[in-house]
Amino acid sequence: MSTPHDFDVIVVGAGPAGGMAAGTAAAMGLRTALIEEHPEIGAPAHCSGKLQLHAFREFHLPQHLILNTLQAGAFYAPDGTVARVRRAVPDSHVVDRAVFDRWLAHQAQERGAEVLLQTRLRAAERVNGTVRVLGERNGKPFAATAALIIDAEGARPVLPRTLGFQLRRRLILGLQYQMVDVDLDEPDCPEIYLGTESAPGFFAWLMPIGDRRARVGVCVDPHLAGRAPLHYLDSLLRGHHVVSRRLRRARIERKLAGSIPVLASRRSTGREGMLLVGDAAGHVKATSGGGIYFSLIAARLAAEAAASYVGGDRDALARYDRRWRERFGRELRATAMARLALNRMTDADLNAIVATIAADGRLRSTIERLGDTAFQSRLLAPFITQALRPAHLATLAGPVLKILRYGLRALWDDGISAEENVSDEVNP
Ligand SMILES: Cc1cc2nc3c(=O)[nH]c(=O)nc-3n(C[C@H](O)[C@H](O)[C@H](O)COP(=O)(O)OP(=O)(O)OC[C@H]3O[C@@H](n4cnc5c(N)ncnc54)[C@H](O)[C@@H]3O)c2cc1C
Repeated sequence: MSTPHDFDVIVVGAGPAGGMAAGTAAAMGLRTALIEEHPEIGAPAHCSGKLQLHAFREFHLPQHLILNTLQAGAFYAPDGTVARVRRAVPDSHVVDRAVFDRWLAHQAQERGAEVLLQTRLRAAERVNGTVRVLGERNGKPFAATAALIIDAEGARPVLPRTLGFQLRRRLILGLQYQMVDVDLDEPDCPEIYLGTESAPGFFAWLMPIGDRRARVGVCVDPHLAGRAPLHYLDSLLRGHHVVSRRLRRARIERKLAGSIPVLASRRSTGREGMLLVGDAAGHVKATSGGGIYFSLIAARLAAEAAASYVGGDRDALARYDRRWRERFGRELRATAMARLALNRMTDADLNAIVATIAADGRLRSTIERLGDTAFQSRLLAPFITQALRPAHLATLAGPVLKILRYGLRALWDDGISAEENVSDEVNP
């Protein structure tokens, strides 16, 4: 028999995953705490805030969260060649993450969740059928108990290991500047800059966020990059022919930095006493680093599982693990597969891919028709089939072989087992 506890569920971390989990749990009648280490929700921000329309529909998100709407994309090869695609309908909105996270936490509070700020948790332990979390609140020791913890700590969680979870993941490091007075040709078109020199292990970007503003950033994989992200971002701003033109009158308004668990082992995200959601669970697409939409889906499923678990259903935690995989497990595997292959591409491979897309209207219209930044796997097979047409064989055979050779390894353990430089430690 379990001892009485302070809450039914304690949600750790008030990002999108935590806010959604706490709001759903509270709406289902659970005594819910939402715990955040910072004095203010949403700060410091790290994210570009691109969120697919799917999320707005599925979670009935209000229009006031929207800063900008995106319908196109431009991919720049290392040699400067550009391939542009434009969908018939918008793909994503851009949100202000601080406003978004606060809105979610406010919804949770309105539904009855207790929001505890300036509370940093350091450990969790199982005690007589309940879980106790330990940390500090306003500089003083803090402890609370619950039937279940939903861990939404983000990319570098500390609590899961204290309950015996093995976290194996590869973190990439991101840095971006929010800039004003940016000269944009198409305000609904984010730009992606590829290259082993400019962004080893990932890419650089310019994300228009409305009112002549843009977030200009770079993510790099520390195992592939010789320098810190600042070096690559400075080089992009000064040296890239398109970026330097767009930013000639621009000034920096804010700096944002963070890390993304692009390749993560997701063998177990639920066991006695704890469910992992969002970045803590590695719910991130390894191609784009996008994690908000899947975090929201997983958070809602986790809260539903928590309600069943508190009601006595001991299978609910394993069911959570199955349910999120049914919803988007295939996307995580497909994007891990693409990331492993992309990390092996040379600049010549990237130039060939972008030049082929730029020159081939049929390939572009396949991307425009099937491309969906939330569900990228829908494009992968048709894209490879088209790229293997005789006309492209000479230029694309190399990159496609890399996708097959390295990418297929991702089918095993989401790519983690295929990677040498994956740390058992979250903080490398
Ligand atoms: C540079 C960059 C750009 C990105 N751009 C996009 C994008 O455009 N679109 C997209 O979908 N995704 C993007 N992402 C990824 C996205 O930010 C994450 O997937 C998303 O924030 C995950 O949400 P979360 O709630 O799991 O974690 P987080 O948003 O990281 O929230 C975790 C919260 O937990 C708190 N916390 C952590 N540990 C503790 C603790 N022990 N005690 C108390 N509180 C704690 C933190 O303070 C934080 O508030 C980007 C990431 C980076 C780094």
